[in-house]
Amino acid sequence: TKGEQDLNLVIAGHVDHGKSTIIGRMLADTDSLPEGKLEQVKETCRKNSKPFEYAFLLDALKDEQAQGITIDSARVFFQTDMRQYIILDAPGHIEFLKNMVTGAARAEAALLVIDASEGVRENSRRHGYMLSMLGIKQIAVVVNKMDLVDYDQDTYKQIVAEYTDFLAEIGLEAETFIPVSGMLGDNVAAQSDKMDWYHGQTVLEQLDSFENEALPHNKPFRMPVQDVYKFTKGGDDRRIVAGTVEAGEMNVGDEVVFYPSGKKSTVKSIEGFKEDKQHKVKVGKATGFTLDEQIYITRGELAARADEAEPRVSARIKANLFWLARQDLVKDKVYYLKVGTAKVKARLQKINRVIDASNLNQDENKEKIERHDVAEVVFKLDRAMAFDLAGEIEETSRFVIVDEFEIAGGGIISEALEDEQSWV
Ligand code: GDP
Repeated sequence: TKGEQDLNLVIAGHVDHGKSTIIGRMLADTDSLPEGKLEQVKETCRKNSKPFEYAFLLDALKDEQAQGITIDSARVFFQTDMRQYIILDAPGHIEFLKNMVTGAARAEAALLVIDASEGVRENSRRHGYMLSMLGIKQIAVVVNKMDLVDYDQDTYKQIVAEYTDFLAEIGLEAETFIPVSGMLGDNVAAQSDKMDWYHGQTVLEQLDSFENEALPHNKPFRMPVQDVYKFTKGGDDRRIVAGTVEAGEMNVGDEVVFYPSGKKSTVKSIEGFKEDKQHKVKVGKATGFTLDEQIYITRGELAARADEAEPRVSARIKANLFWLARQDLVKDKVYYLKVGTAKVKARLQKINRVIDASNLNQDENKEKIERHDVAEVVFKLDRAMAFDLAGEIEETSRFVIVDEFEIAGGGIISEALEDEQSWV
């Protein structure tokens, strides 16, 4: 997990527009590679008589995964003088969605890479759309491969204009656009002398000016229950309710309510995992607490404070969803929907509209949802579940859909609907 001042960054963009090259460049130019790695990769290229590419550095690092040195399954690390950066897998990859939704790692900022010689493509738009849905607001657009267009300002300006318009349509605004050559290093770590018409920041300078996303301390307390551990103390049966706090704070003596069951009790003690006694639990921390009364609660409930806003509880939801799986999302199939630690069976009940995120075309007459579609839908659940709405408490409004044991899509809940119909 992430240190207080690290920044979680996602690099998005169309395939081959240069994401890996730019990551490799940043790793090399910030001296974040393991000792000798750059030379080793260059030497391998020489031996195989193929030209060295910065993108190869990423592959080489993946080989070190087993040792856990620089990369774990979906992340790469590098540091500037200011802080450490953690690069998350790209949007459009299941791993990224999973991280965002489970809270394992949330992107706080994004670099969106566009190839200057190709211009804005489907995934330049689609990824932008996904970032906006997931609530990632700090975005810098990197116009890469400027060397291929002779560092031409007009080409750059045209892309800036086109993509600025697109972002505006989906309610986003880029913090900046930066013309670079990832391959040659122009404007990545060092200012380029080939584009005297550009006076802005380098990519690394821009990264350092992104802000760490404030944790949601000031929101109502929310803790999805991960587990309930039983133990005996002085002959008494006791239970610890364990989980990770998604929002807000809670203190010993507070009355907590568990949803959807509605059971309540008062917090008797807070048990830190490091033996230290605490009186308060805070957002982002794994924690456990005991209660005054032995009420029966289970994994999947959402703990909230009785003196704060309640979460929603419903078996029917309206959601904005994106679908990543090869197979379609259809109406006559049972899926699992996961929010926090809750997992319930779900059926797609209604497709309000499907949006092609690559051109923002809308279709209100679709019968199924295909790979890469974004849609507004209604899900019917087999039992009531507790959650919050996007725009109120983001953290507990995100969900994933599991199909055939794999995460197949995900999104945000926009409305808790009246539920008059039965499940079957
Ligand atoms: P990704 O699919 O977005 O990760 O793209 P890669 O980083 O793998 O790059 C795709 C291809 O574009 C590779 O052959 C790179 O060498 C090439 N490339 C990347 N950046 C640049 C650049 O700035 N200039 C030029 N000329 N080629 C580049």
